Amino acid sequence: MIRYQINSSEPASHYFDVSIRIVKPDPAGQQLRLPNWIPGSYMIRDFARNLLDLHASDQTGELAIEQIDKSNWRVAACNGELTVTYKVYANDLSVRAAYLDHTHGYYNGSSVFVEILGQGDQPCEVLIQKPDADYCADWKLATSLGRKQAAAYEFGLYEALDYDDLIDHPVEMSAFTRISFDACGVPHDIILTGRFECDQARLAGDLKTICEHHIRFFGEPAPMDYYQFQVLVVGEGYGGLEHRASTSLIASRASLPKPGQSGVEDDYRDFLGLCSHEYFHTWNVKRIKPAVYRPYDLQTEVYTDLLWAFEGITSYYDDLALLRCGLIEVDSYLELLAQTMTRVQRGPGRSRQSAAESSFNAWTKFYKQDENAANAIVSYYAKGCLIAACIDLKMRELTAAQQDLDAVMRHLWQAYLEQGKGVEPDSIQRLVSEITGVDLGSFLDELIYGTDELPLPELLASVGIEVVRRVAKNPQDKGGKDIEGALPGVDFGAMLKDGESGLTIQRVIEAGAAQSGGLSAGDQIIAVDGLKLSLGQFESKALRASAGDSWRVHAFRRDELHRFDVVLQAAAETTFVLKVTDQQQAEREAWLGN
Ligand SMILES: [Zn+2]
Repeated sequence: MIRYQINSSEPASHYFDVSIRIVKPDPAGQQLRLPNWIPGSYMIRDFARNLLDLHASDQTGELAIEQIDKSNWRVAACNGELTVTYKVYANDLSVRAAYLDHTHGYYNGSSVFVEILGQGDQPCEVLIQKPDADYCADWKLATSLGRKQAAAYEFGLYEALDYDDLIDHPVEMSAFTRISFDACGVPHDIILTGRFECDQARLAGDLKTICEHHIRFFGEPAPMDYYQFQVLVVGEGYGGLEHRASTSLIASRASLPKPGQSGVEDDYRDFLGLCSHEYFHTWNVKRIKPAVYRPYDLQTEVYTDLLWAFEGITSYYDDLALLRCGLIEVDSYLELLAQTMTRVQRGPGRSRQSAAESSFNAWTKFYKQDENAANAIVSYYAKGCLIAACIDLKMRELTAAQQDLDAVMRHLWQAYLEQGKGVEPDSIQRLVSEITGVDLGSFLDELIYGTDELPLPELLASVGIEVVRRVAKNPQDKGGKDIEGALPGVDFGAMLKDGESGLTIQRVIEAGAAQSGGLSAGDQIIAVDGLKLSLGQFESKALRASAGDSWRVHAFRRDELHRFDVVLQAAAETTFVLKVTDQQQAEREAWLGN
């Protein structure tokens, strides 16, 4: 048995204090290690950089510690029980690491608990103590970790099956608000931390609807006997990370439903989509997972072509579930799908990188996006979602709606339950062909490993949905809706924002007008045709311009003033709107399922 203990003598300084009692350490020299990344977020984060004051002792006193590399240590030979202590600096207000101050504490085990090498498969206990400080007096504790000697929502002794379990139940400590509901017999809690206004009954009702939909999608019983949504409410923020029996979310205040408000506003729809997404992961990636993730090697990058399936298929079902369970209408769903199509279409990187390559390079490209990202990469979330739609619609078309992607997911789930095996790179292609009775190998290979345009317009037509293309009105235009008023006929080929002394170029589109004229991301445009312009004035000027017009642009690059002549290009139709036609009504209703 390994006993972890976590407390903080100084929460306001962002320090957690950890101590570990190892009853049977390796007497020749116990090795300790901390993960370098957290499952679900595929980037090396080097959590050990926040670990300080590492000490070890046995009954004879303090022991020497040899550091092997950035995240591994070896304690000198010891006699009997070993105690290890250290501090963790916790000041990352994200869902991926740890945070602590006078308002709340939060941690993922992967940021705070070292693994006792050779004993990772052993059960362990963790004593989570309430900090002494006055401002923590009303703090409670929320986690999906098993309780050993702790009252519900209280500090105390918790337990984990093994190290993997220990680090897959994030912990929230604060004076949080708890909202409880039951989904298919499984108790669920929503834990809200921060300053907010919320129609709690409505939120609980809507999440219950989503959770029951997903549980029934894969089939009862649910794979967990308890589930927790941990929500940190902030002014501006969006994100989530999935775990086996919980999810940690960051949401903006505006995204929660206000008391007395009805209808699903865009921000609330985004929040429901996020909850739906993370909950779907309870099956797809937390249990059904790439074979190379069984088990995870958290020391180094683990490469897979399959994130398009685990994130993309999850992204496909997150919003579709909102429609299928009646929380949003068809028009609203089609707007979201059209926005995803628009996001993919606007990046020239889509013809350079496949969804499989995007998955494989998540570590160094998707998670490390710079100003050139749109030119260089495609998102395995967004393109993966569209690939999922293509597979679903193709299966429906070939089988008169008798088979679909739902069946593929249920097969993967059954295979997990029966054999516990991971998903291989060709598993989905094989399953789709088996289920439909048609060899769809090359069709799927092109979607997953190719960079040609996806056949979505034809496939959407098979369910009576027309794809309409238009140019973007402005940078805020995400697509999905008709726009009133005139649209620009020209494209400057850059994303701009208002800056201190003019307009800042955030990124340029490859081979677009700005790049062809010599402009670069980071340039500060101070005048166009001799005049200083705000973003609004710039857009008005574009509305009056024609393709082939040349604009004289003065811009600072670093502290040097340069002159550029930019020849405007005809605006490309990279923005999509989806329209329901009066064709194929039965097929459409069977697909959208409402
Ligand atoms: Zn996800």
